[in-house]
Amino acid sequence: MKSPLIIGNLKLHGKIELIKNLIQGLNNISIFNSNVSIAPPEIFLQYACKISKNKNVSICAQNVDVHLDGPFTGETSAKMLKEIGVKYVIIGHSERRKYHFEDDLTISKKIEVTKSQNLIPILCIGETKRKDFSESIKFCKKQIDNLIILGTDIKNVVFAYEPIWAIGTGVSADPKEIQNISKFIKSYVSEKSKCSYENIIVQYGGSINEKNVINFLKQKDIDGLLIGSSSIQYKLFSKIILCIERFLESDI
Ligand code: PEP
Repeated sequence: MKSPLIIGNLKLHGKIELIKNLIQGLNNISIFNSNVSIAPPEIFLQYACKISKNKNVSICAQNVDVHLDGPFTGETSAKMLKEIGVKYVIIGHSERRKYHFEDDLTISKKIEVTKSQNLIPILCIGETKRKDFSESIKFCKKQIDNLIILGTDIKNVVFAYEPIWAIGTGVSADPKEIQNISKFIKSYVSEKSKCSYENIIVQYGGSINEKNVINFLKQKDIDGLLIGSSSIQYKLFSKIILCIERFLESDI
């Protein structure tokens, strides 16, 4: 399998000490087979970039403004994220859609500014309530279509399929179901963007822990994970990364 992209989304948790422990903890593990990134709260991004330089972990932003610069008090632009060394930007997370009323147009603009600075957008999609396979793919298709209608270029976008009912609930989805949904997302994005299927990355996110992580990575079309709660305890996150590395070693 290709090197899975594992992102720890700290959301609004932690202090400088946690960022330091997470990055140092990960640095004590030999990470050869996975691509690990940490998404700290915005105020810690620069510090995280500084201490992760030349280390085996990259930095991801949890948000970005739709503008590159200008009179927009309180915002942070993709240009600024690029300057400090950020690599990825999470866009359209369900918490931003819900609590910050982010709509498709905002999400489309955020993807565009992120790509304009050669940063990689991690676009979160996923249904609110538990649904069967056909309903879930209908929901994802609609979210993707809404962006395409707005003229969004979905090439080189990483898709994070996160069924909202699985986020922070301790109830993860069935890995086999996620495999099928990821496969659908890849086929659909490939058809719409003319990108080759193999080059499309789909992550899963929702109540990942050290017990279920490998069941997801065993699936052919799950190329990575977006991890919330289990990334805010640095020992647990390191343990998960260690599990992944051991699994990938044995899979080679
Ligand atoms: C998330 O918020 O992106 C997420 C996956 O959270 P958790 O791992 O806590 O379900």
